[in-house]
Amino acid sequence: MTSFTKNIIWATITLVIVALLFSIFTVPAKSPKTISLNELASDINSSTVQSIKVSGNQLNITMKDGSSVTSQKEAETGITETLKSLGVTDQALQAVDLQIVSPSSWEFWANLLIPTILTLIFIGFLFWLMFRQAKTGVNQAFSFGRSNLRLSTFKDRVLFKDVAGLKEAKEELIEVVDFLKNPKKFLDIGARIPRGVLLAGMPGTGKTLLARAVAGESNVPFFYISASEFVEMFVGVGASRTRDAFLTAKRAAPSILFIDEIDAVGRQRGAGLGGGNDEREQTLNQILVEMDGFDRDTRVIVLAATNRPDILDPALLRPGRFDRRVILDLPDMNDREAILKIHAEGKTLDKNVDLRRVAVRTPGFSGADLANLMNEAAIIAARRNKKSIGQEEFLEAAEKVILGPERRSRVISQKEKEITAFHEGGHALVAAAMKDADPVQKISIVSRGFAGGYTMKLPTEDQHLKTRSQFLADLAMMMGGYAAEQLVFGDISTGASNDLKEASDLARRLVTKYGMSDLGPMTFGKSEELMFLGREISSERNYSEKVASEIDEQTHGFLMGAYETAQKILKTNKAALKKIADTLIAKETIEHEEFYDLLKPFKIKPVTG
Ligand code: ADP
Ligand code: MG
Ligand code: ZN
Repeated sequence: MTSFTKNIIWATITLVIVALLFSIFTVPAKSPKTISLNELASDINSSTVQSIKVSGNQLNITMKDGSSVTSQKEAETGITETLKSLGVTDQALQAVDLQIVSPSSWEFWANLLIPTILTLIFIGFLFWLMFRQAKTGVNQAFSFGRSNLRLSTFKDRVLFKDVAGLKEAKEELIEVVDFLKNPKKFLDIGARIPRGVLLAGMPGTGKTLLARAVAGESNVPFFYISASEFVEMFVGVGASRTRDAFLTAKRAAPSILFIDEIDAVGRQRGAGLGGGNDEREQTLNQILVEMDGFDRDTRVIVLAATNRPDILDPALLRPGRFDRRVILDLPDMNDREAILKIHAEGKTLDKNVDLRRVAVRTPGFSGADLANLMNEAAIIAARRNKKSIGQEEFLEAAEKVILGPERRSRVISQKEKEITAFHEGGHALVAAAMKDADPVQKISIVSRGFAGGYTMKLPTEDQHLKTRSQFLADLAMMMGGYAAEQLVFGDISTGASNDLKEASDLARRLVTKYGMSDLGPMTFGKSEELMFLGREISSERNYSEKVASEIDEQTHGFLMGAYETAQKILKTNKAALKKIADTLIAKETIEHEEFYDLLKPFKIKPVTG
């Protein structure tokens, strides 16, 4: 863009210069007065004219008083004839010094050519500009040669201490750094140098951050390229880019070459997903070739990051290539606290802020989510004109990140408010009564995102495994809203539809995936899941019609069981439900402690699913 503006400026300057030149050559600086032929004739008759110089049709007249004027004659007729026909006498004409000059050749050519030449030069200049522009475009297209390799600068140096948690990953990478610092120790003992380390983990778990930390700690040149940059417009570019990237890194050895998002090129070759792409395969092949081409003591370590390790070509993962794989998990509660602490640096927090409680409320958050949460909290505090960020801002930011912003402005009728209050109260009460359910953190009837209200329950510690009775408690709780509406109003609203969908999905999974139904320890259906994301991308039926109807029956059984449990709890504790709903209508939200205080007088009996 800047070169474009520069070109415009140049074009304008040229235009001005050309215009100036034109004006100099065509309009003489001080043009003599022009007179008509009639005036000239009468001047000659009154013998004030000294001489007339005729060149072509141009008459340059010098007066006796020394001044000069010009005039123009007709092209066809001679000058004497013209003057005579205008009544100039022979005598008077003889007194005038009449010279006929053929126009000087210089002047003639100049008049003819200069405008033409200038125009040509100008057009040529424009063409040159255009070509130059086009040429840079073309160059960019063919400049694969240079692989956009960025040599990391240490402007904002990241160190391992800036990365919270990820203990195993850090240990693995510290070894790599150690190798780059003293390779002799490893080589002497005959150890092969690690060539490639693959960092795998969900988006936002800190892969790129960790790679930057390696660069910061090892003090060797660090080359960064995103694999998507390998694949561009032209076939073959990716492969030569790869070659160039590796060459650059080798020249700078010892060095680190970091290929981010390697799944962009490293997909399993010939796999259906995304269709065959020759370009990608060529690039991948080139990466394989380059990594094989390392000598035993080439001191280049290739780091790569991906969030889809499951789709990578097996050849990439073979020993001698990315033989080390480091999995970056979502942070657990302690790590979340540590990450929050790191990002709290440079922000003013209230003294009473308990980041531990924020960590408790944010299971499933990635490092990037937590960084975002910290920022949201700061923004909320700033919006409230506070000098420091308080606990409320953190909790609010967490909810905002999970559920979307509050929509207090949404108008709801009193009736709707009542239904929502009983609905959410039903969820919360069932959760409180079920022995295996997670504690309720917050209930609210302020709509957020698409939810009309919500009941937030969170485990007190990180869970990696879940039991059948916990699932049953979850199912009962999901049914709590539906059951409460039915019980109190004798009618059901659409507000429960999302609960029902989730409950149905969960119940079906209990049957087909976890072997938790009467059908016994068997899974049904083959499905491919997106690693980490837990989203199904395809599923295939591998059972008979008969089994299919049995699965439906079992699923239905789970759902009905959960509904009955919820109903029973709500019926026996109807007074408690009314209390919760009334409080919600009055205050809109109930926090954890307040909720359990509210329930104390009702002495709710724990129920198992
Ligand atoms: P990705 O795994 O998608 O490459 P990044 O490394 O880009 O994720 O992480 C994004 C941001 O999240 C980082 O810039 C950092 O601010 C934050 N973050 C992620 N993980 C951590 C961590 N373990 N410690 C501190 N900050 C983290
Ligand atoms: Mg990244
Ligand atoms: Zn609900």
